Amino acid sequence: MDYVSTRGSAPVLDFEGATLAGLANDGGLYLPREWPRLSASNIAAMRGLPYAELAARVMAPFVGESITPERLQALCEQAYGQFAHDAVTPLVQLDARHWLLELFHGPTLAFKDVALQLLGLLFEEFLGRSGESLTIIGATSGDTGSAAIDAVAGREGVEIFMLHPAGLVSDVQRRQMTTVLAPNVHNIAIGGDFDQAQAMVKRMFGDPALGALRLSAVNSINWARLMAQVVYYFAAALQLGAPERRVAFSVPTGNFGDVFAGYVATRMGLPIERLIVATNVNDILHRALSAGDYSAGEVRPTAAPSMDIQVSSNFERLLFDLGGRDGAALAEQMGEFERLRAMRLTNAQQKGAAALFASVRAEADEMNEAMRWACEHAGEIVDPHTAIGLHAARAADIDPAIPIVTLATAHPAKFPEAVERATGHRPHLPSRVGDLFVREERFAELPGDYDAVRDWIAEHATPRA
Ligand SMILES: *Cc1c(COP(=O)(O)O)cnc(C)c1O
Repeated sequence: MDYVSTRGSAPVLDFEGATLAGLANDGGLYLPREWPRLSASNIAAMRGLPYAELAARVMAPFVGESITPERLQALCEQAYGQFAHDAVTPLVQLDARHWLLELFHGPTLAFKDVALQLLGLLFEEFLGRSGESLTIIGATSGDTGSAAIDAVAGREGVEIFMLHPAGLVSDVQRRQMTTVLAPNVHNIAIGGDFDQAQAMVKRMFGDPALGALRLSAVNSINWARLMAQVVYYFAAALQLGAPERRVAFSVPTGNFGDVFAGYVATRMGLPIERLIVATNVNDILHRALSAGDYSAGEVRPTAAPSMDIQVSSNFERLLFDLGGRDGAALAEQMGEFERLRAMRLTNAQQKGAAALFASVRAEADEMNEAMRWACEHAGEIVDPHTAIGLHAARAADIDPAIPIVTLATAHPAKFPEAVERATGHRPHLPSRVGDLFVREERFAELPGDYDAVRDWIAEHATPRA
């Protein structure tokens, strides 16, 4: 499978190249040149497969020649064997219509593990072949950081620098990153918000001062992450009767990665009735999808910090695909956004999006009410992000005969204060995270200043082998 950049001028790469690169060197994001299609009978034949086998089948066309099918399945078994639930991503019924897809049974308690446990193994596989080394630079609004660190800590040939906005991630989220003391792990708390951290990371990819490093990305700008997330849309829909029956999904959204994976599933042929984009008050995606207005406001911190984002990187992938895959036109559109922090969707983009996506913005009281509803009506404690998804699922205008699956993106114990405030119940950390609150922390603190962060990384990184 060939991978092309959304901005049209970066080199075409294979799956291995796109995975190692992360970001395209023209500032765009890699996408497969075309969408592999599965027929209804291909889809029906996947019903009942164990998760790792389903994963290998769904991902095989994207991986192409880069990994043999047998090896791909072995990697999936290794990645998903770590999960604390045999079903890997179990479905839980809330009432006649609403379901939760629990994506938080991995080592760091958020859905990011589903993709990053595999990505860590893919990096090791590809670097083992070439003997090269890789420096991963990432920014996190809370959950990507810990999941990426868990996936690469102590692995050969890889080191990781992870930026998080100081004071804007929860204590559990921070400690899950900063208590990993492996020498190839470097945490940096920076002044400013997540969008500023993410912008710094993007800039470093083109910075000659870091030219001695082979940089890669683990944010959801890395295609391999999205690919791994496509799998659980198939897993859930198959259990609820796909391909004969249509299913809707409600997705707590920040960087538009998780919900874009749902879009990919539809392009592969999975009959999804609607993808509901759930946002908090940081609602750029809701404004873009409902009114064509993609303009970034100030980030407002909320109890769902992983969604406190005003620049949703992966939205670019959707705009590219809906706009006829015209890289030059998209480069111009994104260039305008980068200059003005605002742009309008074209008619084709708006119409294409409206055919599949709905969006709902949740206020804090609606999020709290959804946590209470899940607790009182179904005996389920959900985290603030999941609650936003659940609110959106209940508010969206969808045929009542269609089941709606809300993606449960984090374990409630990652956000114990917010959950307790809303429900009166304090969720407990599962034993697999161990003694998180007594372990030593290690991280650098730097101002939100690009040069300072770049220089610190240049000083602490190991030049490529
Ligand atoms: C990352 C994250 C999100 C947002 O996912 P995107 O792929 O960035 O849209 C939502 N909820 C939780 C708990 C997360 O960690």
